[in-house]
Order: sequence, then structure tokens, then C-alpha cells
Amino acid sequence: MYTKLNETQSVVLRELCDTFVPSIQVEDDPLGFWARTASDIGSDQVIAKSLFEDVPEGLRLELICLLDDLSTQGFVEASLPQREKMLTGLSSSSPKFENLIAYFQKQTLVLTYGLPAEPGDNSMGVTYGSPRGQNPNWEAMGYPGPISIPHPKPKQIRTLTPQGDSLSMDADVCIVGSGAGGAAIAAKLSARGQRVVILEAGGHYNSADFHQLELWGYRHLWYRGGATPTANGTVALLAGGSLGGGTEINWMNCVRTPALVRQDWAQQYGLDGLDQEEFDDYLDHVERRILSSTETSYYNAQNLRMKEGCEKLHYLHKQTHINWDPALFNPLMAGYTGFGDQTGGKQTARRTFLLDAFRNGAQFIVHCRADRILVKNGRAAGVEATYSNQGHTTKVTVHSPQVVVACGSLESPALLLRTGIGGAAVGKFLRLQPGGAVYGVYKEKQKGWWGSPMTTNCEQFVNMGEGFGFYMEIPAFGPGFVASVIPWASGRQHKELMMKVPFISTFIWFLRDRGYGRVTIDAEGNAIPVYSLDDETDQKNFRRAAGEAIRIHEAAGAQEIIISLAHGYVSRKRGEKLDDFIQSVAQLPILNGSQPMISAHQLCTCRMGKDPAISVANTNGELYDVPGVWIGDASACPTALGANPMVTIMALAERTADRMTAAVQQNSKAASGTCA
Ligand SMILES: Cc1cc2nc3c(=O)[nH]c(=O)nc-3n(C[C@H](O)[C@H](O)[C@H](O)COP(=O)(O)OP(=O)(O)OC[C@H]3O[C@@H](n4cnc5c(N)ncnc54)[C@H](O)[C@@H]3O)c2cc1C
Repeated sequence: MYTKLNETQSVVLRELCDTFVPSIQVEDDPLGFWARTASDIGSDQVIAKSLFEDVPEGLRLELICLLDDLSTQGFVEASLPQREKMLTGLSSSSPKFENLIAYFQKQTLVLTYGLPAEPGDNSMGVTYGSPRGQNPNWEAMGYPGPISIPHPKPKQIRTLTPQGDSLSMDADVCIVGSGAGGAAIAAKLSARGQRVVILEAGGHYNSADFHQLELWGYRHLWYRGGATPTANGTVALLAGGSLGGGTEINWMNCVRTPALVRQDWAQQYGLDGLDQEEFDDYLDHVERRILSSTETSYYNAQNLRMKEGCEKLHYLHKQTHINWDPALFNPLMAGYTGFGDQTGGKQTARRTFLLDAFRNGAQFIVHCRADRILVKNGRAAGVEATYSNQGHTTKVTVHSPQVVVACGSLESPALLLRTGIGGAAVGKFLRLQPGGAVYGVYKEKQKGWWGSPMTTNCEQFVNMGEGFGFYMEIPAFGPGFVASVIPWASGRQHKELMMKVPFISTFIWFLRDRGYGRVTIDAEGNAIPVYSLDDETDQKNFRRAAGEAIRIHEAAGAQEIIISLAHGYVSRKRGEKLDDFIQSVAQLPILNGSQPMISAHQLCTCRMGKDPAISVANTNGELYDVPGVWIGDASACPTALGANPMVTIMALAERTADRMTAAVQQNSKAASGTCA
């Protein structure tokens, strides 16, 4: 059993990283950008360490095997063009090799443009380098890196630290997962005097911990340490993984549930009140609590480009609502929001609903992953979990007659499947609202890191027929993330494109997907998400979205427009025929990972509905097969929304909390009736 790479493997890994980011000789290289390789930054060493610390054994063995294969094929001795050719050939030889090479490529790019200088652990808890460390590549990109250091600030929520081998607790309700949905339910039930315990698999961080560093953010705040692919490599999944869940890292675009979706959920799925004032009240309450407003949605250059393009084309667009306290808003700091907000102004679940719950007496355990739900006499009886932090492990058992499953749409079905409850629909109907990106290179610098990231929504195409279509928006900027998603065709091309990054505006879209994937579990009970864009409507809308993003860039004045492919890219220079380009883009393959897709909105894996054959929970949110277990997160949504989901998830969770209270009252009435 190895614990580190052998010398040959280390050399192959270094050469592999330096094939993705090689040294290129150019005449004018004042910042040393062209000469600098991935291994100059230390990316190969971080990957080598992470292979043994973070990567599951099965994948690790395959990745190491690839290094051995490359060694026997003479990869190290080959020239750069030969190595590039070898990788392209290997990638196209099988999906397995394609995924393994993509793994090394993405890791290399994220690290080479994300690592601050001098990688290594330090006492501030920053995994990579000093909190103010600058990555030498940032200057060429014009990226300022961290602009302020965090100040000490006590955490407002106090969490329990389990001691010893086991801990047993009693509660009225145990909530698993502290994201958008779990938090909203915790606040409501605790306000009613219920004894609430919240278990959260991730850690607890506040503004004092946030260094405005991308890689620190991924490691501490993101699900599985950053963008993680579906098991079949088709979509990169983005989700939260600390106290506050996705709300801690998200891009703050607050959208109310579309009317069409509300009608659908009420009429087709039996969610009474969804199309009535009752649900407006939930939405209003959520918006008030998280301070959703347009006051802080300043337009940065990227958002202005989309706005200008939409205006020229007469496309419906809106200034977004953002959940940021105007009193604490600072546009210079807002762009770092995906790595943790240092100002304390972002109204995450941690700073709103969870704080309310804490003040109402709720108890929190972080670093505590729920293993299974306890079921006794066919009813919920509590949760078994494992607390694990800094080498200490405690088995935690919460005894409670009510359990809320709110681990997000990837992990909620995994918890039910590990427990063996929820019925045949558990994990089915995984909606990802998958999206893509089109990059526009402009004459002026765009500086995507400045200001609230997402302040223009293009809503022209939300219904392209039968309620399905796409939304178009702007993403937040992270230097490593950008480097890993923009096209890579060769080392030279990559560097040329990286030099253009300061001038790029990125338009992204996401679908209201009609088709769906599935979440299952492996032998250890880990979630395995699989998704393919098989549905014809979805394929049509995806292609249309790419075409419209191109049109908006053109209208906004882009000098060059670029589409990312798995093994290269296509681009158009200003003046070349627009319709020909759009048509050629519409012919590009989109299946099996041939175009990069991302998902920040996972939904529907434990959905509510009136038909038990296709739903996990009834129209109140309670499991059909185990009373007392409730679904409280995005997984409860019956269908995709075609809108950013946070506000809907919170409002739906508040409705579920009210239904829980009504059910408890009814049960106790029935019980006292029986006694009498
Ligand atoms: C980068 C990014 C940008 C986004 N931007 C926006 C936006 O602008 N607007 C918007 O509306 N939405 C946005 N979203 C989506 C939104 O944040 C999510 O849809 C929402 O947070 C999901 O809520 P949830 O309650 O389903 O789960 P989450 O918020 O994901 O919370 C689930 C929590 O459960 C924990 N957990 C998982 N398994 C276990 C277990 N077994 N035991 C204990 N705890 C567990 C996780 O660690 C996590 O903290 C964005 C998401 C991302 C990732």
C-alpha cells in the first residue's frame, strides 16, 4: 500500500502538469507568465499530496495507473507537441482515459491559477500559502487577488463539540443539513418552542476565517472540495458543504418561483396553496428575512455587457435582487463571495435563519455527517451520525420523533438509500438545470471579480414551449475556475487565451431541464450522481441558449466569441458571418461530456407529489413510507424551476415546517383523544 508516488510517477506527474501549462519562449515576457510552468507554482506537488489525502482509493489507483502507462509510453522523454498528441490520442481512445486526463488537467489549471505563492500549510488554517499570498500568474490576468485580511470576529452561533466515543441527545426534531432548506425549517420550528438539533457535515466558518482565496473556499466551503464531476463525467457539480450550505458560497441572485412552475406544482403534483396567496406570503417572508433587494446589485462590466446586448436585441432582462445588507455592502469585496464573505453583509442562511434558530435555543453539531435515519415501529425515531474533526471521532445519536432530511439533492437521496427508506422514487428525477458558457473578448478590461457577480438576468427565453427554456446570467470570477473551464487545446493556445482573460465577459445559461438523471449509492453509501442531456427539448434549448449567448455578445460589441469544447474550442472574430457561426455551433456534439456543462442547481431527487409511485414525499413533504421523516431541501421540488432556486427552496421549506407543526398538533390531538 503506497502513501506517496514513487520517483518515476512524480516525474511523469510533473511533466503532465507542465504539458497543460508549459514554458513557452516568447520575446516579450515582462511578467514571466509565458515562461512559468505549472510545476513552478507547485501544482504537481499539491496534486501528488491530494491524491493520497483526498481522492477515493478506486480513483486514486486509476490515476496512478495512468501515470505508469504514460511512463512506459515514453511521455517524459517526448517533446511538448508529442506529449500533447499523446494526451489527445489517449483521451479519445476511451471515456475512462478521457475522464482521468480531464481530472489531471482541471486540477492542474485550478491550482496553477489559484495557488498563492509558496504552497504549504500555515497556522491561519489556510491550506495553500499565506492569506495574502499572491499567485504570480494573477498579475498577467489583472486579477488583484485578496484585497483585505479578515479581522477577528466571534462566531455568533455556538456549536456543540462532542467528546468521548459516543453522544446521545433527545430532541423534538433533528434536521440533517443546514443549507437553504434546513435553515428555514430550523428557524420556524425553534421559534415555536420545538427542541431542534441541526447536524451539518461541513465545518462552521465566519468572516474571520475568510481570506478571499479561491482554493481555501473550495476546500472548506464547497461540496467535495470544489467543482466535482457526475460519475459519468458529463456535468461539473457546484454545491455548498459548510454551515449554511450553498447559501454560504452562492451568487445571491434572489428569484421568486416562476408563476408557471407554481401552477404546475399545484395542479400536476397536488402541492396545494402553491398557486395561491399562501405561497406568496412564504416568498415575501423569505425575501424580507434575507434582505433581498436591488440596492446592492451594481452592474459590473460583465453584467453591463449582457444588459447592453439584451437592450440592443430587445430581449427581456432584469436587474437582479441580491441578499446583501446594503449597510455592509462593498462592491470591491462582493466579488469574492464564492470563497466566503468577509464583510458579514451577505445574508446567508448562517447569518439569518440559522442565527434565528440558535437564538431560539436550537443546538448545532458541525463536522457531523448523518449516516442513517432511525426508524421504530414504522415511524421516524432519530438519526445516527458520525462527528469527525481533527482526528477525533464520536458516534452521535439524536433521538427524535421528527427528522428533516435537508442535505441537498445529491446527499438527501443517499441518506434515504443508506437507511433503506423512501420508496422506489428515491434518487430518481435528478434535475441539474445544466448550463454552459460562451465567452466574449472585449476591447476594454472587464474585471469580472468586481461587484456583485450576478446582477443582470436575461429572461427572454424562460419559456420556449411547454414551460421549458433557459435563463441567462453572469457567473462569479475565480482565477482557477476560469482557467479550468475556458477551452484548452494546447499549451500555447491556453496561454494565449489566459492573456485575454482580463478582457473576457462570460455569459452562462441554465436550462429548466425536462429530462433527468439519478443519484444512487456505492458500496460505502456514497452518493453517485449520473446525468445525460438525453431529452430532445433540453438539447434543443441548450443549443439555442449557446446561439443566443453568441448574439448577445455580438450585440454588446465582443471582438471575439469563444465556445469551449472538451478537446478544443471554436471561435469567431468580429466581422465574420454571425449566422454561419451560430449554425456551426448548433452542429457541435453536446453529449457524453463533449461540451463542458455545469450545475449549481441540483433538484428533485426526493420529490413531493400526490402520486406515491413517482414521489418520495406526500404533498406536505412527509415521506410516504415512514411518517415523521420530512424532506426539507431542494430535493423536495417536484420539477426543475427554470430559475435560481434559493428563495423557492426556503419558501417551500417554510411551508413544510408549517405542515410539520400541523401534523404534530393533529397527532397529539388524536393521541389525547385515544387516551380519553
Ligand atoms: C456556486 C453556486 C452559486 C449559486 N448561486 C445561486 C444564486 O445566485 N441564486 C440562487 O437562488 N441559488 C444559487 N445557488 C444554488 C443554491 O445555493 C442551492 O440551490 C441551495 O443552497 C440548495 O439548498 P439545499 O437546502 O437543498 O441544500 P444546501 O444548501 O446544499 O445544503 C445542504 C447541506 O447539507 C450538508 N450535508 C450533506 N450531507 C449531509 C449529511 N449526510 N449529514 C449532515 N449534513 C449533510 C451539506 O454539507 C450542506 O451544507 C448557487 C449554488 C452554487 C454552488
